[in-house]
This record gives sequence, structure tokens and C-alpha cells, in this order.
Amino acid sequence: MSDRGMTNSQIIAAYREKTRRSAELAGEAGSIFPSGITHDSRRTLPYAVYVENAKGARKWDADGNEYVDYYGGHGALLLGHGREEVVAAVQTQLSRGTHFGACHELELKWGNLVKQMVPCAERVRFTSSGTEANLMALRLARAFTGRPKIVRFKGHFHGWHDHAAFGVSNHFDGTPTPGVLAEIAANTVIAPSDDFDETRRIFEAHDDIAAVLLEPTGASWGQLPIDGEMLRALRQLTRERGVVLIFDEVVTGFRVSKGGAQAHFGVTPDLTSLAKILAGGLPGGAVCGRADILELLDFDIAAAKGFEKIGHQGTYNANPLSAAAGTTALEIIRDGDACEIANRQGEKLRGMCNQVLAEEGSNWACYGQFSGFYFYLNPQGRDVDPLRFDAGAIGHAALSAKSSVAEKFRLALLVNGVDIASKPGGSVSAAHSDEDLAFTAEAVRKAVRMLREEGDLAAA
Ligand code: PMP
Repeated sequence: MSDRGMTNSQIIAAYREKTRRSAELAGEAGSIFPSGITHDSRRTLPYAVYVENAKGARKWDADGNEYVDYYGGHGALLLGHGREEVVAAVQTQLSRGTHFGACHELELKWGNLVKQMVPCAERVRFTSSGTEANLMALRLARAFTGRPKIVRFKGHFHGWHDHAAFGVSNHFDGTPTPGVLAEIAANTVIAPSDDFDETRRIFEAHDDIAAVLLEPTGASWGQLPIDGEMLRALRQLTRERGVVLIFDEVVTGFRVSKGGAQAHFGVTPDLTSLAKILAGGLPGGAVCGRADILELLDFDIAAAKGFEKIGHQGTYNANPLSAAAGTTALEIIRDGDACEIANRQGEKLRGMCNQVLAEEGSNWACYGQFSGFYFYLNPQGRDVDPLRFDAGAIGHAALSAKSSVAEKFRLALLVNGVDIASKPGGSVSAAHSDEDLAFTAEAVRKAVRMLREEGDLAAA
């Protein structure tokens, strides 16, 4: 955002006016945290809002402002904030103990739910985050195949560990970001996200590929969508070449469908990484998949077969609180229609936003699949009819082009009572009512008008 935009903007003035307590807290945060934040995606100019409590699809900030929330705990809260059964299960567990330094029955129940619901899950190992789950999936794949290289796709996010830190929002040439070893980057190939022929050529050019890792609905939870065809083609290619296919279902797991994207598309990977919804809104992750790959973590099988097992620790793996939240959330999802509701509400929201954009004469569009949505802010000024926008046809390069008004649009939505992620986009939960969606669409209308008034939105 330019300085001029910052100082002269009515949107930013309204934001500052509304969020004075957040401004105070943000002022203090700068001396505690780098950039005053604890997660890069919370970076907001001029400062981020501080939230105090949340319920269902809504949350309230430190100044008492109410927001319809589409951050959804970074996608973890398919059931919305503070779902009663999950809260009760965590409270009960809290009084029993938060960490036994021991095996406990709830972890069996949790692991069994993963086995029941996720098609590839013959065995499960819990971690504390999605980052860790992916890290372990890659290590398992390398150990299983005895090969070094990983193929990833441009823009696909897999956490912040060394193997996934580049080629996501920068360093698309595969060079390492600061602090990452050149050797790791040299053993990672970044494939284009929308050119399967090139992926095939990469496979033909390398006979030392251990694994291919991808987000199964496309980069950033489908911001750059891919389809079932690509998944099926990858499944065939990896099977032919003995390469481990890893789906990162940290976002899509238990969301796209009860069994994630793999169940929806009918493509079963060798390994899957999970987190977010898995742990019902508390920290947690898991790697699951083929028994003959996860046996690399097994003491007895390693001894019997004479191989060196892969070590795995983690103080909070399958901790009782996360297990309580996770089992409760997964049972609700397994036995109910939360995925279908969130998908339906997502589709409705996209339609309502596009209707508003069309009425406002905007050449933006709202798109996405399942319960995800993104705004295409059309930085290249293409001729777009929001009611006929086809994200598949426009291509990944256009969809990922940065817009200079994205941050201001997000602030304008906050001013009008809606919080989305900075993409700009978000996730709809099963707790989002029709009223929430209608409120959101009107907030989009107000935000577009505010931006237009400031000269930030070209009339279509
Ligand atoms: N993979 C994907 C697809 C994600 O969206 C995320 C988190 N946004 C991660 C991995 C990392 O998960 P975590 O934040 O739990 O480490």
C-alpha cells in the first residue's frame, strides 16, 4: 500500500477510528515480536485487529466490534467457533489432565477415526502441526524409496520447514530462502502448477525422485485450482515410477468431504498429511498412509526386517486436549453433514458476492471450490463478467497476479464487519448462516463503493 493511500484514505481513517484498542496493543507488540505478529499471514497495514472472543461464525475484537469470520482458525474451524460438544469435551479432558506422558485411550479413538475416514490411512502417526506432518511425510518417502528428490508445485503451501520454504510466494526458481541449505533446494524440483506435460518431463528427466507433494485442490486451498484429472494423471505417473504420492490435506482433510479431497476425487495417495480440522481447533497434525511406508517408524518391524527405523518424538503428539477436541469434531463430521453444509454455503456466498460485484459494475469476481472462496481483483484490467467468471479458463498466472488494492479491500471489509484472510479469500464453515452470507455480500458492496470513491477501483 502506498504512503499516499495510507494517509489520505477514508478507509484507513475509518479502520483506525474503529480499532483504537487494537492500535494500542499493536503498538506494544512491536517491541515483543518481529513485526509485532506471531504468524506472517496476520501482517496487516496499518496494524492488525486483536480479537477477544468468538462464537459460531462471528468474532469480536478488543474494541467490541463484531465480525463475520472467514479466517476460521486458519481453516481449522469447519464447525465454527466454540462448538458446544467440542468445548465440553475439552473441558472434561482439562479436568482429567492435559498431559500424561503416557499412551491414552483417546488417542486410539482419534487414530481410528482417521483410519475410518481417510481412504489412504492404513496407519497413522500424530504430530503437533501440519508443518511437522509434511516434514515427516517427506522423510518417510525418502527413506522408503532410497531416493533424494522431492517434486513440489509452484505456490503450493506445505508449512514453513526447510523443504517447503521456497517456491511458494517467492524463489520460484527453486533457490533457497535465507537459512535454508542449498543442498535441500538442490534436491527439490518446483513444477509449474498448471502444466502436467512439464511435470511429466520432470519425471522423465530425473530417476531419483522420492515423492511428489501437493495440495490436492491446488495452491493455497484452491486459489490456483487443479482438477481431478491432474490428480489421476499424477497417481498413474507416480505408480509407474515407484514415486510416493503425498497429498497435503492439512486444509482439505475433513472439509472437502468427510474423507477429504482424496475421497471426493477417488484418488488415493500413498501418504497424507493432516492438521487443522483433525484436531478440532486445537494444535495437532498427523501423517497417515500405507502400512508398508509407515512401518519405517515401527520398532518391531524394523528389528524383524533388519532396517534402521526413523525416529519420531514430539512432546505434544496426540496430547489429550487435542485428542478430545479432535475426536469430538471428527465424530460430528463423520456422523453429520458439516462438509456438505459448508460446501453449499461456500457456493452460495460466491454466487452472492458475484451478484453484488455485477450490480456494482465491477470487473472483479469471487471464485473457489467447496467451502473456499477467493476474490479475483483483476490487476490486469481484463474484461471480466463476475457472473460468468471461469477460474479454470483464466489460468494460474492471472489468478496469482498481485493486486495493489488487496490490502485496502481487506481493511474495507473489516470496517464493514467482515474478516477474510489476506489472499484475499477465506473459508466458509458449517456455522455460517444465510444471514451471515447476506451480511457479507453487502459488506463487499460497501467495500467496493469505498474503494471506488478513493479512486482505487476502475469502473468497468
Ligand atoms: N499445508 C497446508 C496446505 C496449509 O494450509 C498449512 C497451514 N496453513 C500447512 C500445511 C501448515 O500447517 P501448520 O500451520 O499446522 O504447520
